[in-house]
Amino acid sequence: MWRYFTFFALGVIAVIALVCYGILGNAVLSQAKRRVRSVGGDMVEIIKGDVTANEILQIITDYSLSDGVDVFIFDADGKLEMPDMTLSEDKIAPVYEALTARIGEWEEDKTVEYNSRSGNRTTLNFAACVSLDGERYTMLVRFPVTHIAELVRRMELYLLIVGLGAGVIAFFISYSLANKLSEPLREISGTAQKLADGDYDVQFNSAQYAEIAKLSDTLNYMKDEIKKSEDFRKELVANVSHDLKTPLTMIKAYASMIKEISGNDPEKREKHLDVIIEEADRLTGLVNDILSTSKITAGLEQPNKKVFNLTELLYGVINKFSYLQETQGYSIMVDVEAELYTLADEEQIYQVVYNLISNAVNYTGEDKTIYISLRYNAEDKRINFAVRDTGKGIAEDELAHIWERYYRSKDSHLRPVKGTGLGLNIVKVILQKHGFNFGVKTNRSEGSTFYVDFPSA
Ligand code: ADP
Repeated sequence: MWRYFTFFALGVIAVIALVCYGILGNAVLSQAKRRVRSVGGDMVEIIKGDVTANEILQIITDYSLSDGVDVFIFDADGKLEMPDMTLSEDKIAPVYEALTARIGEWEEDKTVEYNSRSGNRTTLNFAACVSLDGERYTMLVRFPVTHIAELVRRMELYLLIVGLGAGVIAFFISYSLANKLSEPLREISGTAQKLADGDYDVQFNSAQYAEIAKLSDTLNYMKDEIKKSEDFRKELVANVSHDLKTPLTMIKAYASMIKEISGNDPEKREKHLDVIIEEADRLTGLVNDILSTSKITAGLEQPNKKVFNLTELLYGVINKFSYLQETQGYSIMVDVEAELYTLADEEQIYQVVYNLISNAVNYTGEDKTIYISLRYNAEDKRINFAVRDTGKGIAEDELAHIWERYYRSKDSHLRPVKGTGLGLNIVKVILQKHGFNFGVKTNRSEGSTFYVDFPSA
């Protein structure tokens, strides 16, 4: 990151420096050239005009004093006519020589511009052929730019020094900026490493920048979810292994008893075999539940919808529980309309109805009564199914959890229920897949009512 920043800063500085070099050198020199040309043009006009030699001399002196521009006027023989000053022959002769070499043959109004160098002195020149009182003269406007060139060089040097200084500063700023930007990322990556090593108590808390704060939040959320599923996994292994082990231990224990003690006593043997069968059934139930919830949740079992008689299906389930009425004093109060048809996966709906009624039976109150209703609602063309018990209801804080997999209430119920905590989860997943409305109304004094709204078909 700091390398990119530094390259970027150096690039910007280089562009600025190049632009400054170009502008500085060209602008100053072309400004001087323009000045020389304009003085030369003015002088040609002045000489052509109606002015005396004295006035010309005055103007030449003014230019020399105010602009540092020297104007020389030579006659046809190369003698310096103006300004009226004593200049040694060896100084003026090379100037005139260069002038005639450039201008060539005298021709009225001919002008030439050129640069001349002697030693380290640079001069901009503007030469013109002018006639004055019928005589041929050559005028030379000279502007020494040695000091300007020197100034430009100096400024270029300063520019280089400033550029290098700015480069160094840019490097340090880039370095610290990059560090500041990447520090929270490094911190997050360190925390993620700890999390990967199995420490779920870590906290992502980099909040210097909005984006990174958001990333921290997301990672914290992810961590919580991972922790939850890890806890869930541990709990699941504990619960399931307990639930599987208990019946297996019982089966083994009773089988041993039959072998060693009750084998020849038909009455005892019957009793012990019943326990074995009961426990094996429980085991089968548990395995089936686990299988069907995993299959449904994993999306392996998509609802296979068709129209079927819901009333008949409900009676089928109720019949399964009729032995409870006969043997254990349960009352199942039924309020069911005949011939109601719905469109759904019949097998899955059977499981839903079965699980809900089975829960009501398990959790109902001392009166051992449950109420089942199935009614067609003409208003919204739905079939309302409800199963009510008279138990203790469900605590507010548990209500949200009862639909979760393997969730079992901590509440002690009237009858110790050998549940798996899977029943309601299966109900939820199936009904969600179908898109049916369902829920529970519960009250601590009146019990719970689980309901499902089926579409009428
Ligand atoms: P379980 O096998 O424990 O019955 P479920 O998924 O069917 O598992 O139910 C989850 C939990 O919801 C139960 O442990 C119980 O606490 C609560 N619950 C379900 N149905 C009822 C009900 N009719 N009355 C009171 N509590 C209920």
